[in-house]
Amino acid sequence: MKATQFLPDVQKTLEARGEPAYRLKQAYAAITESLVRDWDEATSLPKALREALSEEVPAATLEIVRIARATDGTRKYLFKAHDGHLIETVMIPEKGRNTVCISTQVGCAMGCKFCATGLLGIKRNLNAREIAEQVFVAARDVAPERISNVVVMGMGEPMLNYNATLLALKVLNDSDGFGLAARHIAVSTSGLVDKIRRFADEPEQFHLAISLHTPFEEERREIMPVASRHSIPELMSAAQYFVDKTRRKLFFEYTLLAGVNDQPRHVVALAKLLDHPLYHLNMLRFNWTDTGFEATSKKDAKAFLYHARDRGLSATLRPSRGEDIDAACGQLAAKDLRGKPELLPVVPAV
Ligand code: SAH
Ligand code: SF4
Repeated sequence: MKATQFLPDVQKTLEARGEPAYRLKQAYAAITESLVRDWDEATSLPKALREALSEEVPAATLEIVRIARATDGTRKYLFKAHDGHLIETVMIPEKGRNTVCISTQVGCAMGCKFCATGLLGIKRNLNAREIAEQVFVAARDVAPERISNVVVMGMGEPMLNYNATLLALKVLNDSDGFGLAARHIAVSTSGLVDKIRRFADEPEQFHLAISLHTPFEEERREIMPVASRHSIPELMSAAQYFVDKTRRKLFFEYTLLAGVNDQPRHVVALAKLLDHPLYHLNMLRFNWTDTGFEATSKKDAKAFLYHARDRGLSATLRPSRGEDIDAACGQLAAKDLRGKPELLPVVPAV
């Protein structure tokens, strides 16, 4: 049962008190559906039990340190875990949709050369509760609007924290929990092939995105160390497995880096590599990080997009969001934000 795996500490406390089994279900619903952050808000539980739980196991495991708002409406949440580690989450409002971008690790071990999270190295994995709670906080924050999409594209490589990430997503998808449709949930990976296959075998219809960034082996190795572990043919064979198994669309993420991966030869090679009706190329201009790369200009990015479409690729160019608060893809480093007060109007924590 998901509640047992998701709230092991709560279950232990309930068991020790000799509470009936349905109390765990109620506690699970309080956290995942009613989004309580304090047991006192869980009015389905008797007062004495609420008090006992409050003393022994917190309803919220992440402290909300700060919420920053960008001029385009994007919000960035800075959280502190029980051991002091900081993580970030982003909420992007767009055309009636509210998308939350969540983190799965403190830092990241993959070391992609253009990514601010990669510069941090890895500190630790988040547990399922810490992963899902980021969505719960954003959901409380946007209420009465709802969260319509969750993307696992924040800090960390989700496939290196597979079990906790998947449990969190199952809870988000659970009709007795947060209740978000699986097709509104997407995971992005830098390309760990065994995990891509394992993910394809999961029964839920979650979406997958693979960070490709260049169709050329040598170039990929230079910007993404993971490429030395898995070659592009190995990666494409896992991609093929995913679409064969799931018949779901598969997204390839492509961060446009000026002079690095935005040349005509890249389009030509991409058109060959991604020649499959279920493959979709999702481009994004590089968001500034102190890594020595430059963004492809808007004009060149558009030209690249049209060239890709001319060659038959299904492709889109995503606009960057939340850049003025360093909330865009690849900019999450959970650094102390106090240096930029004019960009960071702090709103009361939910
Ligand atoms: N670790 C996973 C998911 C998090 S990163 C992954 O790498 O796929 C989410 C996306 O942002 C990835 O495609 C990543 O390559 C991209 N990204 C990283 N740094 C970026 C930057 N500075 N500008 C634009 N995209 C970036
Ligand atoms: Fe990690 Fe993804 Fe950043 Fe690479 S791009 S360092 S895998 S978070």
